[in-house]
Amino acid sequence: MAVAGEPGPERTAFRRRLTVVSGPSGVGKSSVVSALRRLKPEIFFSVSVTTRSPRLGEVDGEHYHFVDRATFDKLVEAGELLEHAEFAGNCYGTPREPVERALAEGRPAVLEIELQGARQVRAAMPDARLVMLMPPSWDELVGRLTGRGTEHEAAVRARLAEAERELAAAGEFDARVVNADVREAAERLLDLMDQDF
Ligand code: 5GP
Repeated sequence: MAVAGEPGPERTAFRRRLTVVSGPSGVGKSSVVSALRRLKPEIFFSVSVTTRSPRLGEVDGEHYHFVDRATFDKLVEAGELLEHAEFAGNCYGTPREPVERALAEGRPAVLEIELQGARQVRAAMPDARLVMLMPPSWDELVGRLTGRGTEHEAAVRARLAEAERELAAAGEFDARVVNADVREAAERLLDLMDQDF
């Protein structure tokens, strides 16, 4: 029975844990993370800062904080990013303060970031759980990336090259989840977050 002032089952099941979701571009990270958000709205989902231009339908402050390079560099210099990386010609970073606040409040937090960032989080916060989202196959990933239609050919090539590097690092991660079905992958992620450790 829950006792007043003590964490309820919901709070104890989720430790104060940071989960990093990585995986190659086109693997469906955003869809899986959105499905996870629907399953557990109480999770804190970090909104990254990026110098990339918004894609159609992307909302500033919701999908990303879109900033120029000078603003990004200032955030890096001021130590305001938990991690940051350059990916396919653009800069991306995780604002430190909101993540630290969520964790301090006992909320589980999720970062959806690429490999270099995941490695920085691992170094800074060894307790973080690193999960790599994998495509069912390489051909499937190529199909998803080329079929997305949001990037030019050169950008797709750059993302495929990054994808190869990312998948080669799968062994560095605590867990690997294959995204054959978005809902199932989100549930698997939730299971991992729920595990006792
Ligand atoms: P996209 O341009 O497709 O939105 O993102 C490109 C890559 O950058 C994706 O792999 C995405 O997960 C990653 N990314 C997004 N935000 C961050 C961040 O804050 N830090 C790092 N290191 N990578 C990020």
